[in-house]
Amino acid sequence: MTAPLPLVFDAPRRGMPPRHLADLDADGRRAAMVELGLPKFRADQIARQYYGRLQADPAAMTDLPAAVRDTIAGALFPPLLTPVRHIACDSGETRKTLWRAGDGTLLESVLMRYPDRATLCISSQAGCGMACPFCATGQGGLNRNLSTAEIVDQVRAAAADLRDGAVPGGAGRLSNIVFMGMGEPLANYKRVVNAVRRIVSPAPDGLGISQRNVVVSTVGLAPAIRKLADEGLSVTLAVSLHTPDDELRDTLVPVNNRWPVAEVLDAARYYADKTGRRISVEYALIRDINDHPWRAEMLGAKLHKALGSRVHVNVIPLNPTPGSKWDASPKPVEREFVRRVEAQGVPCTVRDTRGQEIAAACGQLAAEG
Ligand code: SF4
Repeated sequence: MTAPLPLVFDAPRRGMPPRHLADLDADGRRAAMVELGLPKFRADQIARQYYGRLQADPAAMTDLPAAVRDTIAGALFPPLLTPVRHIACDSGETRKTLWRAGDGTLLESVLMRYPDRATLCISSQAGCGMACPFCATGQGGLNRNLSTAEIVDQVRAAAADLRDGAVPGGAGRLSNIVFMGMGEPLANYKRVVNAVRRIVSPAPDGLGISQRNVVVSTVGLAPAIRKLADEGLSVTLAVSLHTPDDELRDTLVPVNNRWPVAEVLDAARYYADKTGRRISVEYALIRDINDHPWRAEMLGAKLHKALGSRVHVNVIPLNPTPGSKWDASPKPVEREFVRRVEAQGVPCTVRDTRGQEIAAACGQLAAEG
């Protein structure tokens, strides 16, 4: 039995964890070796252990002399994330992990296995400051940003568990990463971009996951979308639009007051132009709120005008949070919505809703503690 945990939104604001190997790029790792009085070649050796062998415990890095293991354990491997519990559903094909960071902060990640891939949904912040009223995480506010290493280590840990057969379904390989857990990734911009670089670079600089299989989501921080477009990356951008009109979006996604729909779509077009990637538009379908046929038509028309064929809409049946007035739309309404978006020339599919029985909508597990 796990002892009851404090609610994540009861936690006071806390600072970043101490420096970890995964916070550093290649130059930073070599500089750290110099600081520690170790030869620079140790930097690559340690990084190959962490990224290549997915080993986060220096004591198990047996190609290093024992004294070096102790030195780097103290200097570059502070306690980062400890699993509080794993919860499985969908016959074990979905596993949600609640993590406790070194300072007690709670966060979560969700691993979903499919016949052809294994996708990990990761958190970029503990809590979220975007205050979307239909979202459990949004109700608690932002606790703190996660460090680059705290983001990367969610991925390393899941990749190691899959490789080692520690997840039901047998040994496998982590292939896809989506930044759709707790938090607004682009509000923690620098650390998220650094984490993306570590996730996609080949060892010894990173975990070697294909950029095409990495999705960064945002509620529409337009300037940050443009900045991301200029990073030289080609990850998929997912824009959580949730409605095509400013009047409703000002309420559903309060940051819309700052960057309205037209600005978000302009930035998305810039991203598509610069990266050549198709934009994913996320639309949480909420009964009687944003599921009207005219909204489907407006959505399809605006997206087609802004992005042509370089867009795909994912309709997400809302996962109602306990005690909330928000609910998922009935299936016939959902089908009609999809039909009307597609009639505007925009591909639209309903996302499968893995993990509903374990409260896998962002933030729910941490919020339940
Ligand atoms: S929906 Fe996403 S951006 Fe909005 S409050 Fe929830 S976690 Fe934050």
